[in-house]
Parts: sequence; structure tokens; C-alpha cells
Amino acid sequence: MSAKFWHRQAAVLKVDGRACINGQRVWARSGATFTNFSPIDGRILGEVARCDTHDVDKAASSARTAFEDGFWAKLPPAVRKRTLIKFADLVEKHNHELALLETLDMGKPIKDSLAVDVKLSANCLRWYGEAIDKIYDQIAPTSDASLALITREPVGVVAAVVPWNYPMLMACWKIAPALAAGNSVILKPSEKSPLTALYLADLALEAGIPPGVLNVLSGYGDEAGKALALHHDVDCIAFTGSTRIGKQIMQYAGQSNLKRVWTELGGKSANIVCADCPNIDAAVRSALSAIYFNQGESCNAPSRLFIEASIKDAFLEKALAMMPSFQPNDPLDEATTMGAIVDEAQLNTVLQYINSGREEGAQLLSGGQQVRQDSGGLYIAPTLFDHVHAEMKIAQEEIFGPVLSVFSFADIEEAVRVANASSYGLQAAVWTSNLSKAHQTARALRAGTVHINQYDEDDITVPFGGFKQSGNGRDKSLHALDKYTELKTTWISLG
Ligand code: NAD
Repeated sequence: MSAKFWHRQAAVLKVDGRACINGQRVWARSGATFTNFSPIDGRILGEVARCDTHDVDKAASSARTAFEDGFWAKLPPAVRKRTLIKFADLVEKHNHELALLETLDMGKPIKDSLAVDVKLSANCLRWYGEAIDKIYDQIAPTSDASLALITREPVGVVAAVVPWNYPMLMACWKIAPALAAGNSVILKPSEKSPLTALYLADLALEAGIPPGVLNVLSGYGDEAGKALALHHDVDCIAFTGSTRIGKQIMQYAGQSNLKRVWTELGGKSANIVCADCPNIDAAVRSALSAIYFNQGESCNAPSRLFIEASIKDAFLEKALAMMPSFQPNDPLDEATTMGAIVDEAQLNTVLQYINSGREEGAQLLSGGQQVRQDSGGLYIAPTLFDHVHAEMKIAQEEIFGPVLSVFSFADIEEAVRVANASSYGLQAAVWTSNLSKAHQTARALRAGTVHINQYDEDDITVPFGGFKQSGNGRDKSLHALDKYTELKTTWISLG
């Protein structure tokens, strides 16, 4: 589709900013709203319900009633499967509306909203739907005198609190396994990008998910989010967001009902390119496209690039030649590879990190400034720093923007040591032709996912999550179901 087509669609788009509680689209009880701006050009998208503790109470009570009634939880898994597959079909049917909302709300290129966010969200809902009636419980190998059944049951009421960088996909990574397992869910999207989550609420109802089983509460983190994390009738909170807020969520759980807490948090992933890399051109392309994809606003972005000293100059020469292909442009043009930064606060955070890199002595090779101001939107040029040292702020902290920091290393032990000297452990990569070195390095890197000679592979079938302060538990794959189920042992006497 042409940029003209998407701009025309955007001009007539109607945004429904009401929350969804017990199957009804409603404004917050207080009547409070917040204004939703698009980072692509500053246009106002609409007013959104600013839910607070009263709305959280109402949603928790409706989720609890739905769970106890069993209209969803006690359905045969094959029936929940059919509903989730219908939900996935509806997401695909409305792919244009959803992609447009995601791009306008969050700033990412429309091409990625369509090919990544919407597509993978539908795939995620379908995958958990298809999986749920193929999973068996267990019988323990006890003595003949008794029978011990090990079964899984839904946890109950699950709160899913998600960030703004992949608003719909992060929501689906939580709601798909939680719903498949039979839970009731209260989804709280980020106040920076609530629109696709609210739209999903309508599609879930249309697919046949009963009222109260999926509630969507828009609102601020320290109001609706905090109230959910402190709520005594929420059994589990599945959180994706920053490590700072993840720590608070754990405290809220401790202060309230010790609800189960699962966290998918920040990252500062290391990408290590050895001199015996099998394909330098592919390594250059991958290093840049992985950090600049989604404007660098990806938890698993490889923001630290380690290049073996003997190939660094040649590598950076190729990288600099490729930088123009990542320049931000109109997100509603399908040729655009980099869009807008989500809001002014995030834009300023990224620019402050760029300044700190300069001040601490890193060498700015490319970018480093705001661009496209005349559009009214928020854009930053893809930025590349060389001569970054481990103690610098840009080497330690998650920037969450299009900023790549380059380190050089003399041997692989040094690269692994510096790569691991981070409080995060989400992902890492190593590029080498030496099979033993590849395996040894993969073992030595403290990260939930390690890539060898690529950084792009991903699939719903594999777990996603981090070591250290990148979180606990895993999204995606059958492992995610562990988060949304309780394990029960039932002893039966055969005597
Ligand atoms: P954030 O922590 O600021 O907010 C995440 C969510 O928590 C939002 O819905 C927000 O409203 C809510 N929130 C904020 N304060 C809260 C509070 N006091 N109590 C309860 N909820 C609260 O994160 P963000 O800026 O939206 O997202 C960026 C972060 O998310 C980055 O650190 C990124 O690495 C991380 N992330 C991690 C993964 C992963 O899978 N590991 C995936 C995507 C993003």
C-alpha cells in the first residue's frame, strides 16, 4: 500500500479509548482520561480512560466471578482452543486497523506493524490455542499401594502489565498462554500505547471469550498498574517492562498477597564478532538491523557490539556505509525502516545518553542528533559510538533507543568477561567459524538466549526471557504455561 493510502486511513481512523470491564467498554469510574498523542507527527489520537483503584476492583471482581463460574476455566481445552483460534483469525482479519493503530500510537514503521506485530500476535494466539488440547498431565512412579496424579490447574486471576515497545505482541505473549490455560486476565497496556490492547478486547468478545475473562484497563503505571500489583484478589502478575519497575512489582506482591510474580525486564545484550567470523557482511548487516529495528526500543537489542581488534576498522567502514539505510522516515511509508521514538520523555532520555557518551569520551561516528523536527514528530538518527569502555554509562545502562556502542577486544575470554559484566542477561551472540569456540562461548555467556552467526531468528516455539536482572520465568513456548498454572499432586489409596 502507498503512504497516501495509510495517511488517508489514519485521517478517518476512529479511536475508542474506553476500558473493557466485564465485557463492557466503559470510561473510568472517576471519568478521568488522558490524551493520547502520536509520536509520528504530534497529532492527537483521542482520549483514553484513566483507570484507577476503583476500576481495578471492578475488573478483579469480574475476573474472579468469571473464573469461579467456570464458563471459561472449566471448558474442555478443545473448546478454548477453537475460541483462541477464532480470536487469532479476527486479529488477522483486522490487520490493517491494528497495524495502523500500533504505528500511530507507538511510532514504528507500518511495514513492521503489519509483518511483525500483527502477524506474530495472531500466530501467538493460534499457537497456544492449538497447543492446549495436546498437553497431558502425569502419573508419578510411586509404589503399587497408591496412585499419585500430578496435574496442572489455572492459577485464577492473572494481571498482565505490559510495555509500549511491542504493545500488542507483548500483550499476546501473556494473554494467549494465560487464557489457553483457563485463567481470567486483566491486561494493563502502557499509557504510552494503549490502543491495540483496547481493540483486542472487542475482538476477544467477538471470538466468544466470555465477559470478565479478558478485561483491559488503560491507565498509568503508578495508578492502575500499582493497584493491580497490590490487589489481594489477583493471583499472579505477569510483568514486562523495566527492571526498576519489576523490582517494585515484586515488593507490591510481598506487601499484599504474595501473588506469583513473573518478570520480563531490561537488557544490554552483547554481540561478539570474532576475526574468524564466517561472513563479515552478514555480521555488519545483522548488527545494525538488530539494534536499529523498532528504533532501538527492543529489550533484546544488541546494544553492545564487541569486535575483535584486527577486523574492527574494516567492520566499521562497512557499517558506516550502511547507516543511510536506517535513517528515520515517515512511519506510514512502507519503505521506511526506522520510525519515531515513542514520546518526548523517551526522546530526551536517549538524547541524554548520547550526551553522556560524548562527555565520557566515546567517539561519535554517526548520528547523535534529533532529526525530522519539521514533521512535528520525534525522531533520532541511528547513532554509532566507537571506543566505548565498560565503565561508561552508555556501556552499562539500557538506553532503549537507536544507539550502538562499539568495544574492541583482543581475545574471546576478554570479550566474554566484559559481555558478562552487566546486571542484565537477556540475549547475546557470537560470530565465529570455529565450532568449539562457538559452543564454549555460548556456554560462557550469561544470557537467556545466545545466537551463533546470526541475531535474527525467533519463533513462538522457543522460550524468551533473561538471566540476572533481565527477569525470571519465560514467555513463549510451552514453558510459558508454567507461569499460568499451579501444579497439584493428588494421592489415591489403592489399598
Ligand atoms: P516500564 O517499566 O516503565 O512500564 C511497563 C509497564 O508497567 C507499563 O504498563 C507501565 O504503565 C507499568 N508501570 C509503571 N509503573 C508501575 C508501577 N509503579 N506499578 C505497576 N505498574 C507500573 O517500562 P516501559 O518503559 O513501558 O518499557 C520499556 C522496558 O520494558 C525496557 O526496560 C525493556 O527492556 C523492557 N522490555 C522487556 C521485554 C522482555 O521480554 N524482557 C520485552 C519488552 C520490553
